[in-house]
Amino acid sequence: MTTDSNNNLAPYDNIHAFPLPEVMDSGSSTSYITLSRKALHNNLSFLRDFIHKDTRISSVVKGNAYGHGIEQIVPLMCEYGVRHFSVFSCNEARRVRACASSDADIMIMGWIDNADLEWAISKDIEIYIFELDRLKQALTVAKKQGKQVRIHIEVETGMNRTGFVSQELPEVIQILEDWKPHYVLEGICTHYAGAESVANYVRVKKQIEVFHTIKTLFLDKGLIPNYLHTACSAATFSYPKTQMDMVRIGIMQYGFWPSRETYIRYRTQFPHIDDPLKRVISWKTRVMSVKQVGVNEFIGYGTSYLTQENTKICTIPVGYAYGYSRSMTNIGRVIIKGKRLAIIGVVNMNLSIVDIKEAPDIKKGDEVILIGEQQGLSISVASFGEYSNQLNYELLTRLPKAIPRYITE
Ligand SMILES: *Cc1c(COP(=O)(O)O)cnc(C)c1O
Repeated sequence: MTTDSNNNLAPYDNIHAFPLPEVMDSGSSTSYITLSRKALHNNLSFLRDFIHKDTRISSVVKGNAYGHGIEQIVPLMCEYGVRHFSVFSCNEARRVRACASSDADIMIMGWIDNADLEWAISKDIEIYIFELDRLKQALTVAKKQGKQVRIHIEVETGMNRTGFVSQELPEVIQILEDWKPHYVLEGICTHYAGAESVANYVRVKKQIEVFHTIKTLFLDKGLIPNYLHTACSAATFSYPKTQMDMVRIGIMQYGFWPSRETYIRYRTQFPHIDDPLKRVISWKTRVMSVKQVGVNEFIGYGTSYLTQENTKICTIPVGYAYGYSRSMTNIGRVIIKGKRLAIIGVVNMNLSIVDIKEAPDIKKGDEVILIGEQQGLSISVASFGEYSNQLNYELLTRLPKAIPRYITE
């Protein structure tokens, strides 16, 4: 088993906090999610082997670990040897702190209330700094606490989202020179505006150049960060030179390519291997009830589906309130009893309707695959995404936190 070369693999056995029950039971929830430990570890090994051996991997677990569940995924990652996590908000950082091994580093890339700065600094959380107000606040709090705040200076290179613009840099550098005892310069970083598509090639290349120019301004003043980091999953694969000292990997850990293009590009370079990534998540429910409907009848609300013949249908207890998008109306597919079957009529708030003409022996309580595999058939999140124009990212992160999540081998 390969591990993050910057991190020691400490024994970590908090993992049984979420044991797999004998019979998977969705309890009071209408569906449940399973997470494959083997798939996750496979993906982490693949990433570790591809990424330069001196480059640290930060595991991005924002958006509730891309919908997989922070409390389930983070311990599995710690078990593998991951010791750096990236989140968006202070709230997520608290959740990671509570379930990660105690020697793991946590980095907040986005929102921190000034009131939360106190907590973050007292817990040695690493924070992105992309505006003067936060820089000054953070240094002031650190001084008051007698601590060194661990900062990552985010610089604007062309995404035009967050990050210091070039006019601000002289003041940033001056402040950093004046406040040296009160911080650790963990990183200088930026983010690319669409490394997953070759359409953005010129823009990303320009960003890479700008980053190297700006970085020099800091280095020339003796402000040497522990990590220069710029790459997400797509940049790591499509622009390997952007890996630098650390990469921030989100989507690929969970077994998804950032885009079809990134995958095809990889397969072109390494034609002899199959898709090296394995999906970690499956999402399942059960048949709620079964009934017969005659010919020339509309199904569900409105008039979006008219039966052409006598039709057997079943209802399943998932709808848009549970993360099953309304855009799957008349488009979605599920697997029941080894058959791929169609969602007919509109997706409701709490339930959806499936045409089971082709599998009339389906009965109440049968397992329904919303995402995942059964008897050699699979419904992938990507196919879901293509049906409904949702990116993997969006579908995954919309999975409600309340759905129970179980770890399987
Ligand atoms: C979400 C995010 C990442 C990870 O992106 P993936 O495409 O999921 O690898 C990296 N860096 C920043 C700043 C992000 O917001």
